[in-house]
Amino acid sequence: MPENAPDLHSLAAYQAVVVGAGPVGCILAERLASELNWKVLLLDKRSHIGGNCYDKLHESGVLIHRYGPHYFRTNNPALLDYLSRFTDWIEGNYFVKSAARNELFPFPINLNTLRQFFRMPDLDAESANALLQERREPIEDPQNSEEFVLSRVGQEMYETFYLNYTLKQWGIHPRDLAPSVCGRIPIRFNEDERYVDHQFQKTPAEGFTAMFRKMINHPNITLALETDYRSLKELLTPDQLLIYTGPIDEYFDYSNGRLPWRSLKFEFKAVPEAYVQPCVQINYPNEHDYTRTVEIKHVTGQQHPHTVISYEYPTAEGDPYYPIPMPENAALYETYAQLAAEESARKPVYFCGRLAEYRYFNMDEVMERALATFQTLQQRFGH
Ligand code: FAD
Ligand code: UDP
Repeated sequence: MPENAPDLHSLAAYQAVVVGAGPVGCILAERLASELNWKVLLLDKRSHIGGNCYDKLHESGVLIHRYGPHYFRTNNPALLDYLSRFTDWIEGNYFVKSAARNELFPFPINLNTLRQFFRMPDLDAESANALLQERREPIEDPQNSEEFVLSRVGQEMYETFYLNYTLKQWGIHPRDLAPSVCGRIPIRFNEDERYVDHQFQKTPAEGFTAMFRKMINHPNITLALETDYRSLKELLTPDQLLIYTGPIDEYFDYSNGRLPWRSLKFEFKAVPEAYVQPCVQINYPNEHDYTRTVEIKHVTGQQHPHTVISYEYPTAEGDPYYPIPMPENAALYETYAQLAAEESARKPVYFCGRLAEYRYFNMDEVMERALATFQTLQQRFGH
């Protein structure tokens, strides 16, 4: 992967320019370079690849996830096969607890959570379901996250585990957020305590950055870091393929107004002990300014005498991490999607990914979209 500064005056040498070296940008650069034998210029304004999946060694020597914990999971064996060309895997050790009432509860809510919450150690699945049935609010078709949770577990658990966490995370009441936000979290009547349900839950053995580095290590790919698309967009030629994975409102100079994004501030603290927490993530719905503490060593499996805890403080300012799933934001995004369709009709430009499509995608989902976009490209340009 030549990492030399590209000659910005000879951009025409590249058949494709890919904006953003996150999962989507790396996959599309690799596919275009390997399958179509195209010369690709891959740009990122940051000083590293991997987008928000970037991991790196903290100064203590502990491998950290720089932009929050990234738990790879998928139900798609073909995606896993594709990624396996670039990495080995270790099993995903994704367990979370929620700190409430001065106790640590297994989270997401499962049979053990219910036993602990209701102080009924012998509760079985059937009686747990019956217990919740008395508490659930009869809402058939939840229209927002509050209704979603109330219809599943009732008021008391909603207030203990969801309400304040959501207020802190988004600065928005759950009743104003799409049901899919709190709906991301499963609720179970068995003893499965894993954070997510997916068939494959694995993490790259050497980390995400190493996986993406190997992916784009190809003689046809030139990587230009600390290079903002906006500083060179005038130099592109009209027939060059452009893959854009940055924020869609930025691409159009915010002409229809700014899309709202939620951001986070991360604080990393090294501790001279092998482990501090009982599991990778502890959520704090009702205390502290931070939402969760993360000790990613539980997932990376790194053997190290020190550990690092990261604290996540939600904020309105900063990098765009989360699109905010509310009806008015979806409507504003649609106006940009319309502009994107018109732009794509005029020239070969494709918008793909969490920022470019303003959707709360997990990484497996954006990776699938990148591979699907490549199929479209192959039909259009492959011979
Ligand atoms: P990104 O990863 O955001 O990459 C886009 C890249 O484009 C960035 O590197 C950016 O610097 C660059 N860029 C933007 N504008 C420009 C420009 N003008 N010029 C040059 N470069 C530009 N997913 C999971 O599957 N599991 C998880 O556990 C998980 N946890 C997460 C936790 C947090 C806190 C966050 C924020 C996300 C999490 N995700 C998780 C989601 C995951 O990070 C995204 O799905 C994935 O990174 C999206 O990939 P992408 O390529 O679309 O965008
Ligand atoms: N959530 C909550 N309590 C929790 C964890 C999550 O209320 O202890 C809600 C909150 O609104 C959050 C959403 O569920 O934004 C999705 O949680 P997830 O852990 O999937 O968020 P992410 O990892 O994407 O930040």
